[in-house]
Amino acid sequence: MRRRVLVVEDDPALRDVLLRGLRDEGFDPAPAADGAGALRRAGDGFDACVLDVGLPDADGRDVCQALRARGFGAPVLFLTAHDGLADRLTGFSAGGDDYLAKPFHLAELAARLRAALRRSGPPVPSVAGDLSLDPVRYTCAVAGAELDLTPTEFRLLAVLIAASGALVTRRELVRAGWPEGARVSDNTLDQYLSRLRRKLREAGSDRTLGTHRGMGHRLS
Ligand code: CA
Repeated sequence: MRRRVLVVEDDPALRDVLLRGLRDEGFDPAPAADGAGALRRAGDGFDACVLDVGLPDADGRDVCQALRARGFGAPVLFLTAHDGLADRLTGFSAGGDDYLAKPFHLAELAARLRAALRRSGPPVPSVAGDLSLDPVRYTCAVAGAELDLTPTEFRLLAVLIAASGALVTRRELVRAGWPEGARVSDNTLDQYLSRLRRKLREAGSDRTLGTHRGMGHRLS
């Protein structure tokens, strides 16, 4: 399934390069030329957003905050002419997930988008048995009652639900649950999974988290 990416860039030439390049990289991109255009599309169900910081009608960081305020929960990757630490920090505090300075290679943009999408979970489906995920609010409910999950537990559960009962390898779980390059011991992953298992059981869910030794885990 192609992930839908909103590309917000005012420079028409760069916008075209982004659209074509992301299509070649397997995404389904759609354009917006300014902040107002981006906000109009906030509710269109995009999986990610590439957002230029220097837009004609607004600072991209303000646009990001406005998107978040409208419930846009997908990862936002800023494009900027500057690579200063202060810029990066304000980008993150505005609700951005990553930052790429111009000029950049499309392959790097695509790789970072994939990493952000993996971290953000959940691809469809987001329902399994009595469990349902809300990817915008980052919550999961058992038969309508909200589960109290940490962000890492949420990401792990999201990838297990998305697998629709298929086996998920431990490697895939680590990739979904933690940032790119994080070192996660077997023991740490086991602790997270056993907490998740206990929370599901205590909530009375009809799903159980099974372990297939040496192979992975499955929600069924
Ligand atoms: Ca610009």
